[in-house]
Amino acid sequence: MLTRRRLGLAAAGLTFLPLSRAAGYTPGRGLEVAKYDRPGEGLVNSFLLIGPRSVVIIDGQRTLVEARQVVALARGLDLPVEAIFLSHEHPDHCGGLKAITDAFPEAPLLASEPTRDWLARNGAGMMAFMRSIFGDRAPDSVPMPTRVLRPNERITLAGTEFTVDQLGPCEASEGMTMLYSEADSLLVAADLFGNRATPWLLDGTTRGWISELEKAAPKYQGVRTALPGHGAAAPAGVLIAEQLAYLREFHALVRAEMQGGVVPDAGKARIRAAVMARHPGAPRVAPQPNLIELNVDAVAKELSGG
Ligand SMILES: [Zn+2]
Repeated sequence: MLTRRRLGLAAAGLTFLPLSRAAGYTPGRGLEVAKYDRPGEGLVNSFLLIGPRSVVIIDGQRTLVEARQVVALARGLDLPVEAIFLSHEHPDHCGGLKAITDAFPEAPLLASEPTRDWLARNGAGMMAFMRSIFGDRAPDSVPMPTRVLRPNERITLAGTEFTVDQLGPCEASEGMTMLYSEADSLLVAADLFGNRATPWLLDGTTRGWISELEKAAPKYQGVRTALPGHGAAAPAGVLIAEQLAYLREFHALVRAEMQGGVVPDAGKARIRAAVMARHPGAPRVAPQPNLIELNVDAVAKELSGG
């Protein structure tokens, strides 16, 4: 249904996602979801969960520039921002977060305990690194989560009940936090999977990632709308299968080229060619132009037990 709110947001460049509705749903009285996409290479998503009376912001972009656009879009809704949710501690999701927490100081910042603890230990160093790359586009600090989400906790956000699913080491070594609404057949998937993006494998925990995907497959197979950290929303079963295939295929390519625990340059070139042929045009989730080669090094180290 094309409400005035949807029309305004569409004009502002937000993509509205169709949700499958439980029986008895009345348009304008349930949850709506809009995506803000920092497009192109280094693409990363934020989402707005829009309820009848409040908004929840999912993830904080890589730099202040994009995060300020998320702030503007949230302000345009004329609804209070009830909470800000951080799915994990990677800088593409929290580098710009300070712009959002500064804009909505009343809203709690929700994250898992591992994410909070990692940020407490490493947040300052991470932001110094971000400032070395992005200058003033990166703030000098990352906000600390103010409300810890417990595994399997049920929490109402934007008027909808979600279950917290805390993952172990996967795309990020500290794991990540997903939110699942059974009623809306909706999964806020963090970076458990992307959608046709070249992933980040540098945390060295891709075996854990594969096992989290294998656990998620039967659980979320039928979920109709999954919101990935990178790329377009799609049914969860499709994205889980594609991410699993990508990681297994990458492992096989690296194993075939490994010599004494490392992959020589010629092998890296063959892996790049194979990956590009199978996933043409897949944008990188991080700015490094040599992300595939960096991924090869990290996976070789992981697979050789280094
Ligand atoms: Zn990410």
